[in-house]
Formats: sequence, C-alpha cells, structure tokens
Amino acid sequence: MSASEQTYDVVVIGGGPGGSSVSSFVAMRGHSVLLLERERFPRYQIGESLLPATINGVCAMLGVTEELKNANFTYKLGGCYRWGRHSEPWSFTFGPSTIFPGTEAFAYQVERMKFDQILLDNARRKGVEVREQHTATGVIRERGRIAGVEYTDAEGNPGTVKARWVVDASGNRTNISRTVGERVYSKFFQNVALFTYFEDGKRLPAPNSGNIFCEAFGEGWFWYIPLTPKLTSVGAVVAREHADKLQQAPEKAMEYFIDQTRIVKDLLAPAHRVTEGPYGQFRIRKDYSYANTRFWTPGAVLVGDAACFIDPIFSSGVHLATYSGLLAARAINGVLDEGLSEERSFQEFELRYRREFSNFYQFLMAFYDMDKDLDSYFWDARKVLNTEESMNDAFIRIVSGTAEDGEPLFRTAREFLESRAGVGDVFLKAYTGASNPMAESAPAAQNPGGFDAEAFMRDFRHGIVEVISQGKGGGRRRVEKPLLPDGLIPSEDGLSWAEPA
Ligand code: FAD
Repeated sequence: MSASEQTYDVVVIGGGPGGSSVSSFVAMRGHSVLLLERERFPRYQIGESLLPATINGVCAMLGVTEELKNANFTYKLGGCYRWGRHSEPWSFTFGPSTIFPGTEAFAYQVERMKFDQILLDNARRKGVEVREQHTATGVIRERGRIAGVEYTDAEGNPGTVKARWVVDASGNRTNISRTVGERVYSKFFQNVALFTYFEDGKRLPAPNSGNIFCEAFGEGWFWYIPLTPKLTSVGAVVAREHADKLQQAPEKAMEYFIDQTRIVKDLLAPAHRVTEGPYGQFRIRKDYSYANTRFWTPGAVLVGDAACFIDPIFSSGVHLATYSGLLAARAINGVLDEGLSEERSFQEFELRYRREFSNFYQFLMAFYDMDKDLDSYFWDARKVLNTEESMNDAFIRIVSGTAEDGEPLFRTAREFLESRAGVGDVFLKAYTGASNPMAESAPAAQNPGGFDAEAFMRDFRHGIVEVISQGKGGGRRRVEKPLLPDGLIPSEDGLSWAEPA
C-alpha cells in the first residue's frame, strides 16, 4: 500500500468524455486533480455520433475546437430517419435556428479512440495528473463522507489516495455508483445492440452525407454513421430477447437484420465488413436505460454513464457525459471558490443534470411512440402505455422532470405516461412538417393528453443554449435566471455556480 499519497482536491475515476471534462474544468480553476483510468489509451468505445452542444459548447470551453477541426472528423449537420409512419426518409438539420444561428449548427461523427484521446491529453495540459492502467476498486469512507479511492496500479499493486471529492466517471459498468444511490432501470428501453464496421458503404446525397441515418424495421432499428469517407459504423438495436442469438451467431444475425431493411441494405450493397483491428469484430451491448436514485453524496459525485444512460437513438450519451462533467465541476468549484455549501452547490448540479436526462427520456419516448403503428413484437412492446413502464413508478419518479416553473406532480407512472400519450404524433408533425425541431416555433401543437410540447421544447433548449453561449466565449451571455427560486446560476466564466445578482 502506498503510504504517503498526496491528498488531492478531486480524484476522478475514468478518462472517458465525462471524466476528462470534469477534471479539466476543475483544474482550470487551479485545483489539484488526479484521474485514474483503467485502460491504456487509445481504447475502443462506442458512442460516435455527437451533438452540437458537446462540440460547440463543452469542447469549446475546454479549448479543443482547433484540435477537433484538425482531426478531420466527419461534419454532421443533423440526422436522417426512416422512422414513424412515413415510408420515405426525412431529415432535420441543427440550424440555422435561435440556438445554432449558423456556425454552431454542426457536430462531428468521431472515432472515439481519437476523440477521447484528445480530451484526455487536453486534461493533462490543463494540469490534471492522469494515471492510465490504474483501476479504482473501492472508496474510502471517513466521518460519514467518501474521502478517497482504493486502486490497483499497472503492476497490480494496491494503493489508496485521498481527496475532498471523488468523481465517478467510470461508465455504465461502474462499481462505485452504488455507494451513492441505487440504479433504477426503465422497463421501456430494454434493448440490445449488435454493431460492427464496414468499409466503402454508400453515403447519403449532400448535404446529408455526414448525417447519422437511422432506419426502423420490424424488429428494431439500425444506425448508419459515416465515420470517415471509407469507414461506417453500423448497428442494429433489437429487443433484449435476441441477446443469446446475437451472442451465438452475430454475423448471421447481422446479415438477417440488414436484409430486413430497405435503405441500410442499399447503402451497404458495395461495402465489405472490416475484419481486423479494433473495428474488426462484432460487439454486443445491452443499452438499457437507467438512472441512479442519487447523483451525489457527501464527498462523491456521479458523472456520465455512471449516473444515468438513455437509449442511443438521439446520440445523447456523450452530451450527457460532458455536460454533467461541466455541471459537476461547477458544483466542486462553487464550494472551493465561491464559498457555497456542498449541499446547495451539489443540489444545483443534480437538479440540472436530472432535468437534462429527463428531457431526453421524454423526447425519446415520443420518438419511439412515432412508430407505434408498425405491427411487430418490437414496436408493440414499445407502445408507451402498454409496457411495464406504466407500473414502473420508481423510474418514472426519476424522469418525470423538473420544469422551470416547478416539478409536475404525478401520483403514478401510468398517470405520467397517459399525459404523454400521443406525443409522438406532435413531434412527428413537427419533424416532418417544419424541418427544424430546434427552431423556436416547432413543435407548436399541444397533444390531447395535455402535454405542452412548446413548453417542453423551451425547457429542452435551455441547457443547450446556456452551454453553447458559454462556449462562444467573448460573446454576450444571456442573463441567467436560477431554475428554482433559491437556486444558483453559472458564474461569468461558466466554471462554477454562483449566487444570482
Ligand atoms: P465511458 O466513455 O464509458 O468512459 C469511462 C471510462 O472509465 C473508460 O475509459 C473506462 O476504461 C474507465 N473505467 C471503467 N472502470 C474503471 C475503474 N474501475 N477505474 C478506472 N477507470 C475505469 N453516445 C453518443 O453520444 N452518441 C452515440 O451515437 C452513441 N451510441 C451508442 C450506442 C450504444 C449501443 C451504446 C450502448 C451507447 C451509445 N452511446 C452514444 C453512449 C456512449 O457510449 C456513452 O454515453 C459515453 O461513452 C459515456 O461517457 P462516460 O465518460 O460517462 O463513460
């Protein structure tokens, strides 16, 4: 056991986008940060289609804009879908809109080995001490707080390190999050993904050639992500009941699923599967949606997939990871620099992170609802009100949302889901009618259940607008109002919480 480890302000577990973001933002305020990463980078990870709030918000604040540009990642201007009752594909673009007036209206499709390396190297440059091949094995508790981490190093030697806060950013297989709260699963989004890589697949016609393409088919849906002019990430998301079949014969299963599609099949007609290197295998991931009952406890905080995850259809994983990294850094810096109490500062973090997560959950629920007329086991099981989700009070309590004007009160999961019934139609109309869902005017309709889609979209945009305007730097920031009456707002530099003026 290492006897005399230095004590840090923060120890971060995991060097993915969540861990790199939070550690950089804390180090940027001059605080000491140690990051422990189990693997040696570059390491493979799924999650390649990003959102503008990550690239033009958090990444701009991290100062990696030029590096990302020089990495030649594919430009993503929006998404294309064969989804819902329209048999023809439709698309949306991020802008121009009030959130993304022009230059910010894009994201990238990234090879995560390269993207995550850029963020981790940047953390090092910001002063974070990064130790790769160090695995956190547990936490140290002292006087009712989490006070440090136990780990093993590259040679398998055990060690301990103390810190004022431990950030768990170790991803979906975290063994630390249960020290903070309990993981609760959605019964609605219980899918399994089978994915691999192809070369020389076709591209959609310009200007959509860099967009993610998703195609719903009888047994699930496909993603088709153009990573480079040659390389495409292709994955099928199907019901969890297929898991064993996928494990036993992934190649046969992939061929079978591709054969059921119309457009993915055509795009892949000239392609061949990659068979070597990190892209040369079939991978399987359960992508169940879940959230922890608590995102922080005295001395510890959860960031990214360690806290919550939502189905991959909207490419929200890296956004939630990097955005929660920023929110957690604001909480830590708020205590260290602004004299805020831990309770107040971390409650603000949890409130905003939960709200972002629940917004995506509700958005996704509506998105799945659009395909409710497809007649198949997969889509039948995803008719919101017909699923076990309607009895899943524990998860629905977590995601029923906190609106700016107070938290809506739903006595049961069923009551909440009933209020959202038909929301898919509202969004479908907005998507296929008005081409840009991020625009101020869409979606304007109100569904029969009383769900106010316009208010929802306003709320959905709030966090994105805030982080994008922060990322612009130099530009004039919107005057922030606290979300709740006694809440906090981001500081001028965006790196901590502060009292409203
Ligand atoms: P991770 O990226 O998982 O990083 C965690 C890090 O912690 C890893 O480097 C790991 O090695 C390290 N670690 C783990 N345990 C320990 C330990 N004990 N000690 C030290 N280090 C440890 N997101 C998108 O944005 N776009 C997409 O298109 C997308 N597609 C997806 C498709 C599927 C099928 C799935 C399942 C997910 C998808 N995601 C997508 C989600 C995305 O993969 C994650 O949300 C994102 O990687 C989370 O980032 P993170 O930093 O929280 O965790």
